[in-house]
Amino acid sequence: MPLHRFSDARLPTPHGEFRIVVYRTGDPAQPGSSFAGLDEEHVAMVLGDATGDAVLTRVHSSCFTGEVLGSLRCDCRAQLDAALARIAREGKGVLVYLVQEGRGIGLGNKVKAYALQDEGHDTVEANLQLGFDADHRSYDLAAGILRDLGVRSVRLMTNNPAKMAGLENAGIAVVAHEPHWVDAGEHASDYLEAKKSKMGHIG
Ligand SMILES: [Zn+2]
Repeated sequence: MPLHRFSDARLPTPHGEFRIVVYRTGDPAQPGSSFAGLDEEHVAMVLGDATGDAVLTRVHSSCFTGEVLGSLRCDCRAQLDAALARIAREGKGVLVYLVQEGRGIGLGNKVKAYALQDEGHDTVEANLQLGFDADHRSYDLAAGILRDLGVRSVRLMTNNPAKMAGLENAGIAVVAHEPHWVDAGEHASDYLEAKKSKMGHIG
């Protein structure tokens, strides 16, 4: 998938001063060529010299409801915050932030799935609809960004074995697994339980 580095600046955060790097899909010579006249934008948050091997890394998909609105239906905001905090403690690392609401299905469909769950429909089915397991496309994007940043292999912060395998298949070696549970509160417990029992996530 065509992907290029578009812009780059320093970004002070409560966790320290990161570098934010924005990537765009599509052909730089033909802006708007990729999809419906809109190039996608994805982000890397980089701290310190995060090139080479065994770089502490998190691959994270955007969640408007959780990260911006503070929704307690999921643990995305806590996961994001914990990943940045952990990278800050280590002094270097990368957080790849894929801008794809509901992992690609969009905000509208994600909220539809929430409504289905509230009506008592099967959580796992709704979760599958949401595409909670990132697809091959996500791994290709993440691997492309990591390669551009000079990352050869990673210590991946995740609880999802499929994510480790996906990244490996996309050409980034995962040399270690860093468990990444956070306390998400009672509202997200059904969702987290489904991730563990039905989707192979590990503690
Ligand atoms: Zn979320």
